[in-house]
Amino acid sequence: MRINKVLLLLAAGLVAFAIFFQWQIADHTRKNFVLESQYLIALEDHQEHNFFYTPRTTIQWVVNRQNPSGYFVDNPDMLFEPSQLNDSTLRATRYAISTLSDLDGMVTINRMAVGEFILGLYEADIKSKSVPVYSKYESGTQYAGFKTLPGKVAGVRPTMDALITLDALGFLDDPRLDLERVWNFITAHQNPDGGFWDEHYPKQGMNSSLKCTSFAGRALEILHRHMQRPFPEELSEGIKQFVSASHDPKTGGYSGQPHKPVKDSYNAFRAFISIWNTTNGSDAAKFEAVKNTINLSRLVDCILQQYYLPEQGAFCRNNISGKKEPSIKATHLIIWLLQDMKLLDRVDIDQLSRYVISLRTSGGQYGGDIYTTYSAIGLLQKMGIPTRPRPEPKKPNKPANIPSYVPAIFVIAALVTLLLGFQEKRLELEEINKALSKQANFDGLTGIYNRQIFDTIIKQEMEKATRYQRPLALIMFDIDDFKQVNDNFGHLAGDLVLKEITQLVKVALRDSDIFARWGGEEFIILAPETTLDGAEQLAEKLREMVSAKTFSVGKEITVSFGVSDLQKADIMVSLVNRTDSAMLEAKRLGKNRIRTSGSPSEKPFES
Ligand code: GH3
Ligand code: MG
Ligand code: MG
Repeated sequence: MRINKVLLLLAAGLVAFAIFFQWQIADHTRKNFVLESQYLIALEDHQEHNFFYTPRTTIQWVVNRQNPSGYFVDNPDMLFEPSQLNDSTLRATRYAISTLSDLDGMVTINRMAVGEFILGLYEADIKSKSVPVYSKYESGTQYAGFKTLPGKVAGVRPTMDALITLDALGFLDDPRLDLERVWNFITAHQNPDGGFWDEHYPKQGMNSSLKCTSFAGRALEILHRHMQRPFPEELSEGIKQFVSASHDPKTGGYSGQPHKPVKDSYNAFRAFISIWNTTNGSDAAKFEAVKNTINLSRLVDCILQQYYLPEQGAFCRNNISGKKEPSIKATHLIIWLLQDMKLLDRVDIDQLSRYVISLRTSGGQYGGDIYTTYSAIGLLQKMGIPTRPRPEPKKPNKPANIPSYVPAIFVIAALVTLLLGFQEKRLELEEINKALSKQANFDGLTGIYNRQIFDTIIKQEMEKATRYQRPLALIMFDIDDFKQVNDNFGHLAGDLVLKEITQLVKVALRDSDIFARWGGEEFIILAPETTLDGAEQLAEKLREMVSAKTFSVGKEITVSFGVSDLQKADIMVSLVNRTDSAMLEAKRLGKNRIRTSGSPSEKPFES
């Protein structure tokens, strides 16, 4: 089957567009799917890791615990009770100030009052007071320190708390302070084993402990920074010695005092911080010093093994099995150690963050006392938890897609185009067929029926006439001496004459008459409903018309006729032959005349 090529190309183009759009839709869908899944992953990650804490409520919580005299208490209901001013007031004040300092909340409190409260605990000349036995007391050296309350004895721990507080307040430059004397006071507490003791813990007497050593170290670190005074080597080395002596080779942990059992996780931190705080130089130097003294990987293994609580992701203080409870304070110290030792990846920060944040009350605190809240804030900051929710991941911007029906429209358009192509071709073929059938049925020169179709028509007409007993006449005529026309005027002139005669005869005939070219210059007329007489009259009329006409060749033309009618026994051949014979008879008798076969008496049908 053939088809219009332009429409075929157009259909192919439309199909190409349909494929293109379908591909676009598929590509678009795939990209959207990728964007959407990335967004969902980001959203899930966001929801899972959107930890944050709000400093404002915690600042408010701490501020609510300050007495006009400057100090802080754990229970705000007892803020104005004189009983709240006790041994631990200084410590509570230190943690309150440290918390506010960490949260950038210092401007919200009366700093002056705090500073005056702390300075009120200063013992400017310890030598002049009656002090208990004091190992390194030297005449000529002056000592100054802090105590927990007026009237109490100065000690390392209160001095450390006071120094931390004054440092955070920016009060260390107060002229009433003599940091040289304070340095002397703290360093005088170092024992020959390198560790420190403290009057604040009289139960231990003058025995060194990691606890007191770490307090002394912290106090000295502040003084070292403010006085820009380097640590003497024997001081730093002594501390390392003492730390090493407190190491428990069995567990890898540290005990409070050499050769005592390891009881809690605090001492691991104390071992580390004592060395860190009393090493000269940069953080890198401090890190090196710690690493050189402490087997960190072993220590961390020990901590994780003995103090880690996987359920909370937090640590406990005691290593007594069955009594392990998560402790924010212990966890804070361990995270501090791990962070400075760059080992934070050993714990699950997400889980721990979730746990710490879960402890926060609507009031902004993270458990009982100020110290716990201070530890929680320290933990959150060391773990890098932000103070406001992280921005939600943005929903992907999905560009508008091509509607899914577009390719279908193009396919339909292509099908329609194809159909149109076939249809058009079919119409074209019909035209050709028509032309072909015309060629098959009509004579090319004269335009009248040719012999082939005449054969068919005459058979049909004979049948009809026989069935309905109707007359049917046949006339044949041949141009006289036509050869001469060709010879004298040329074949084209002959053709013209043939056309002119045809035209002449056609006009004279009835519509029902069938006029055909029998061959050469011979013609045949089938006249239904016509008797032999009628046919003879028609032939006569035609003969006269032809002979009267002036032809373009300028020569007179005549024709000879044979006329016959349908007889009972006729078949086509007999009818035609009879007519032909009549025509030949007319020629023989001199041309330009009519011969009729049969007589009127033989007429088979009445007209
Ligand atoms: P007669 O009177 O006996 O019929 O003589 P005639 O010359 O007409 O008859 P003849 O059969 O000898 O010649 C017929 C001529 O008609 C011969 C042929 O070249 C010519 N002829 C037949 N068909 C055509 C045609 O289509 N065009 C032309 N120009 N001439 C044709
Ligand atoms: Mg002839
Ligand atoms: Mg002739």
